[in-house]
Amino acid sequence: MTTRLEDTDLEGLAEKAGRELEDAPALDILRWAADAFGSRFCVTSSMEDAVVAHLASRAFPGVDVVFLDTGYHFPETIGTRDAVAAVMDVNVITLTPRRTVAEQDAEHGPRLHDRNPDLCCALRKVQPLEEGLREYDAWATGLRRDESPTRADTPVVGWDARRRKVKISPIARWTQADVDAYVAEHGVLTNPLLMDGYPSIGCAPCTRRVLEGEDIRSGRWAGSTKTECGLHG
Ligand code: SF4
Repeated sequence: MTTRLEDTDLEGLAEKAGRELEDAPALDILRWAADAFGSRFCVTSSMEDAVVAHLASRAFPGVDVVFLDTGYHFPETIGTRDAVAAVMDVNVITLTPRRTVAEQDAEHGPRLHDRNPDLCCALRKVQPLEEGLREYDAWATGLRRDESPTRADTPVVGWDARRRKVKISPIARWTQADVDAYVAEHGVLTNPLLMDGYPSIGCAPCTRRVLEGEDIRSGRWAGSTKTECGLHG
């Protein structure tokens, strides 16, 4: 186990790396993370595709890939997770909420996602991730600047002040075309729903198909003002 650095050291490291690695290739950013944090570094994946997990496995074979199983995923998403665990040189770790869907229904009433999606996401996504990330100093995401205006300023390496961790977004500068090219070149696993009208995939009750010409994230929490689950706020 790699020794943990103090928060002030981590914050300074994040800010320095964010400046120095802004123009670096994604693989180099992940190699830096592997060197800096070793086993105290993980990748999070929604299993929309396995691009960042694939890149991380090249930089750090056996890297921990953390997946949040909210209990509401499409079967295709769970299947993608299982396929990633079976064929890639990564250690998939599945985090679950404190309560099952049935227990949440008993406590808050059924279909909390329709009535209070912020609370549902807090219970089923934000809280389990907070708990699951405790043993790490740094985590990597698949955030991209071109996905939405709220992600336009995503640093390739930054300081996650809420969790006191280094947050790495190695493909922040990539476009969808870059992702597609990487998937094609390396034969990376992707969620079959991507080819079935779902360019952005979350929980089944909160994700709908997107029509031709619509924004790629317009199928998430459609009909409400919610645009993010709270993991990246
Ligand atoms: Fe609940 Fe929907 Fe958030 Fe999933 S995306 S945790 S179902 S509100």
